[in-house]
Amino acid sequence: MALLPFFCGKDCGGDACPLLAEVEDGNIKGMHLNPVAGQFIRPCGKGFRAHQDHISPKRLRTPLLRTGSRGSGQFREISWDEALSLVAQKLNEIRSESGPGSVLCIASSGSTGALHNSQTLARRFFNSIGGCVNVEGNYSCNAATYALKRLFGTSKGNSGFDAETIRHSNFIVLWGSNPFEARLGAELPAYLIEAKNRGTRIISIDPRQSLSARILNAEWIGIRPGTDAVLGYALLFEILKDARFNQEFISKYAIGFELLADYVLGKTDRIAKDPQWASSICGIDAKMIVKLASFFWNEKPAIIIPGYSIQRVAYGEEAFRLTVAIQLATRNSGMLGGSTGSINNCLPGVKVETLEELPSSLTKQGSVRGSLTRETQLWKDRDISLGAEAGLFNKRVPVLRWADAVLNPSSYGLRPIRVLYSAGGNFLNQGANVTKNIRAFESVDFAVCHELFLTPTANYCDVVLPVSDAFEKEDIGIPWAGNYVLYKPEICRALPNTHSDYWIFSQLSERIGVEPIFTEERTESQWIDHFLAESEIDDIDAFKRHGIFIKKGQLRAGLDDFFANPVDHPIGTKSGKIEFASPLWNSSMASHWQGSIKECFRQESCRRFWLLTPKVSRFIHSQRIEQEDRSECAQIHIHPEDMASLGAQKGEILKIWNSNGALLASAISDVWLQPGTVWIEEGIWTMPIDGVDLCGNPNMLTSDEGTLESISNIMHGIPIQIERIAEANGQ
Ligand code: SF4
Repeated sequence: MALLPFFCGKDCGGDACPLLAEVEDGNIKGMHLNPVAGQFIRPCGKGFRAHQDHISPKRLRTPLLRTGSRGSGQFREISWDEALSLVAQKLNEIRSESGPGSVLCIASSGSTGALHNSQTLARRFFNSIGGCVNVEGNYSCNAATYALKRLFGTSKGNSGFDAETIRHSNFIVLWGSNPFEARLGAELPAYLIEAKNRGTRIISIDPRQSLSARILNAEWIGIRPGTDAVLGYALLFEILKDARFNQEFISKYAIGFELLADYVLGKTDRIAKDPQWASSICGIDAKMIVKLASFFWNEKPAIIIPGYSIQRVAYGEEAFRLTVAIQLATRNSGMLGGSTGSINNCLPGVKVETLEELPSSLTKQGSVRGSLTRETQLWKDRDISLGAEAGLFNKRVPVLRWADAVLNPSSYGLRPIRVLYSAGGNFLNQGANVTKNIRAFESVDFAVCHELFLTPTANYCDVVLPVSDAFEKEDIGIPWAGNYVLYKPEICRALPNTHSDYWIFSQLSERIGVEPIFTEERTESQWIDHFLAESEIDDIDAFKRHGIFIKKGQLRAGLDDFFANPVDHPIGTKSGKIEFASPLWNSSMASHWQGSIKECFRQESCRRFWLLTPKVSRFIHSQRIEQEDRSECAQIHIHPEDMASLGAQKGEILKIWNSNGALLASAISDVWLQPGTVWIEEGIWTMPIDGVDLCGNPNMLTSDEGTLESISNIMHGIPIQIERIAEANGQ
């Protein structure tokens, strides 16, 4: 028996958590804590169950070729040679007929790591052969990223906080965050428990009393979904009234704050955004809002830990502008135990090279490949570029609109998309508007995916290529947050007839004649050695032995240099200060703000319930969910009062619908909720029949329209109707 270092590297907000794999005769028997990681860098339960997927009998074990209609689940097994030759031939054929713009790469981060990142590998492959259309942004924190870039410019990546700084916090606000389930780095939960045991005041602002709120015994402030910005305005209103508020202090660090302040005080629209006003919209008692605002002054340092949920709503960009404004106005920014209001993972980690999307062998041939070298930097730093030309090799469409781009290419400045290429992603299931996603897959000439399991996306592909899993590949793990990196060797041999994404793309590159460009003539292990040689890890042998390198210096407050001396350490905005208003923000900010308020009222008038689609402990997005019994559908969590008003019984199958689609889910009574709000876990694998999803994937109800400015997904606060099946059938 051996204990070998392993990291769980899911795209979950943890991204790299240290573990030890217990291996006997080449088989994995179990997972254990890695003691070298200490007491704070902790995997979640999914990490301890990681080997269950590895040994699952449902893993794909041979390439598949579709034989029935798309989605029928009818395939035949084919050899690797046949599969790779077919994919290479189709790519060559379609690209030579219709150009690289006829391929949309929807690879994602099902596989992570310095080398084996499935999205990077796929983009690198397509860049090696002349490019394709890619997706821009992400489903996770697109609206926050949009806002934070405008607030902090290029310094956004330094605006977070180290989890250990919580030791200095006197007041902790979990604002829409549930880090025990929807992780925000591997260290946060343990530091939060320590804070709770210390007696630190912890408040959770959330429509649900989340698992984290319950574990931490946090004071729960129930809020109506999608109204976090409204609460933010009211808190700011109270803060602006406080004698301790000092505009001179703000001006030292920010520009444009006065515009926000004028709006909050009602100087622009004669509506004071005071607690009474906010209370009627967000459902929080006005006195509670006043009290909450006072904590930011009286219980310093105060830290806001915003969750991604507050920006996965209509006008979600605004929530992060307000968390930043509140922290700055109450002088909780730039100090240990406080925060800038940014996302916690925005801090530099340990320096380790990772595979580039654009092979360096190509960038060196700039003169040969025209403007490629010149374009490269532009491409990397670009904002969302709806339909804009960025050179042949890289057009992008907002990730939220990938299916729309397939169905309406000219709206995005594209020619028809004929190929969909997926690696490490399940876009058909996880993207908003499943019905449209299915139509997109049905419309293309050819669809390929690399997968571990026969996911809903795989079911709609022509060729499915089975990949090796995390235990079968050596790699370096880069955490989402935290000043450490992890290592795992190849713990066991790949399942017979499965291969790594790297191997698959190398083989395709060879068939297309660009293998030296894609691989740069390195094997997988040579790449790992190269990355380590270029890293700041001093003792590589020890790193490989222990599986972890922890860098000294875990107590960083975001933008601390800037807050210590903004003149000598300006941030990366044009002004060098935090920009609450600038030409980069929508020029009609006031109408944006008013739109946000109108949206709240629109939802109020047309909804019967608000739907949340949170992450849960059971699985990560839609990865590796095995629905043994396909007749079992998702549960919809409903407050007991609403159960009574619907006349629904526990376990009763209900129909949930809105203008986007419909699904079935079984009712479960949930006291940890506000009446009027319901939730269904995200990630359920879809099975729509005649427009109704029998398994209860909530993306049947989500829209790909997105938020106004950043075109980001809206996954919470979705207006829905609920009917008992008997009622729906008119009985
Ligand atoms: S937090 Fe994410 S990466 Fe870490 S163990 Fe859990 S699932 Fe794996």
